[in-house]
Amino acid sequence: MEMQINYPKKNKYPVTKLTTGFLPRTLMIPLSQEDNFVCESIVHEGDFVKEGQVIAEVSRETYGAKSLGAAKIHSPVPGKILGIKNCSYPNGKQGKAIEILLSGSFSYLGKQLSAFDFKNYSPSMLLRTISDAGVINTFSCNSYNSFEIDVNKIKEEQNKKLFVRLFDEDPSCDTDSILTRSDFDKIMTGIYITAKVCDVNEIVIAYSKKSNLLTMFNISQKELFESIPMTFLEIKSYEYPSGGKRELTGAYLKKKKLASSPKEIIKGSFFTDSTTMVHVYDAVVLNIPVETVNVYVNGNCLQATALLKVCVGTSFNEIAKQCGGFTKKLGKIIVNGEINGVSVNSLDTPVTKYVKSITFTSHEDNIDRSVSICLRCGRCRSVCKTGLNPDIIFAKVISGAVVDEAYIKSAVLCNQCGLCSANCPSKLPLAKVIKLLKDER
Ligand code: SF4
Ligand code: SF4
Repeated sequence: MEMQINYPKKNKYPVTKLTTGFLPRTLMIPLSQEDNFVCESIVHEGDFVKEGQVIAEVSRETYGAKSLGAAKIHSPVPGKILGIKNCSYPNGKQGKAIEILLSGSFSYLGKQLSAFDFKNYSPSMLLRTISDAGVINTFSCNSYNSFEIDVNKIKEEQNKKLFVRLFDEDPSCDTDSILTRSDFDKIMTGIYITAKVCDVNEIVIAYSKKSNLLTMFNISQKELFESIPMTFLEIKSYEYPSGGKRELTGAYLKKKKLASSPKEIIKGSFFTDSTTMVHVYDAVVLNIPVETVNVYVNGNCLQATALLKVCVGTSFNEIAKQCGGFTKKLGKIIVNGEINGVSVNSLDTPVTKYVKSITFTSHEDNIDRSVSICLRCGRCRSVCKTGLNPDIIFAKVISGAVVDEAYIKSAVLCNQCGLCSANCPSKLPLAKVIKLLKDER
């Protein structure tokens, strides 16, 4: 049985545009900004760096050929390197970060940048430009690879497709939905560039039923895509899950009335989102590396909700201040969505390239959650399409008991869809605990 939940939006005054955040005095740039790789710093304490300068990259010696295409890390500001320090990452892990003190003049910020004519670039030149800019693909809310690594995964496939989701996978976020409205032209150009890079024979655009995408799609954009067939999918984005690979492929097959295997289509397709398409545009058309990210900041203990454009390395504390500070005692900080996000403890945590939303929830809310117990309702089991028993795995891990090998093996099959957590009436963090168990393997 397919099961979805309707996610109620709590914000009375929805955010409609992007706001540029202030520049903090110091930034902490985590050395890991994508799955599987930790970069090595190529700068030293006391060095001065320019805005956009490469400051860290993945070591080929350490990772070998699999690091081909891993994203470089650039300095988002001009400044002085204060050192390499320990830091809490937004994915809940700990690691090293480069601390930079802002000083000097900017190369891109506040400058009038001319658009680069990329039309005569070959696909491989476009891919090199995107890769050199350190672009990562943020399609999934809990796994992030560099753009190039994801492109290389489908290199040998036939009949490649490009799926672009123009709304948020987790309906508690609004990052991609707002960006789609505010930066529509950039996103369309980003899609065109990505289609060329991946050499696809079809573009599939998934848009929210609530948006009026087809009216935004104007004549010049239609001309841009003239030679590549496009399919539009109208999706009920307020239902969860509706924006994962499986759901989008299902919607595509239904619209086309095809009986093909969804697995085959997923294997041969590049899936991406509005956020990544804006970074592709900036990299190719404006020649700017990824140095800022757009973060949807919300939560019931914040003064205001906003979609903020902030530098990579800005602390969560700084971001909360820019939203007017806290009106209640802070409880939890959730990164990348209430349904499937990760909870972090420290306000010193800096933003990375994969942070799309931060939710600050109040202490009272925490108390409500901490007294919750499993009601043995069985909902988590009935919604798990992989056939797991999330309640049992959760209970074993939380009690500190030795987890049986059979449960560890089943946890490995979890695809982190988050349906169990989303449907749990006790709001237990089932998917997150299963991920921790998986990560320990
Ligand atoms: S997150 Fe894992 S355990 Fe939970 S419903 Fe999805 S696949 Fe099942
Ligand atoms: S959905 Fe939550 S309360 Fe219900 S059985 Fe699963 S863990 Fe327990």
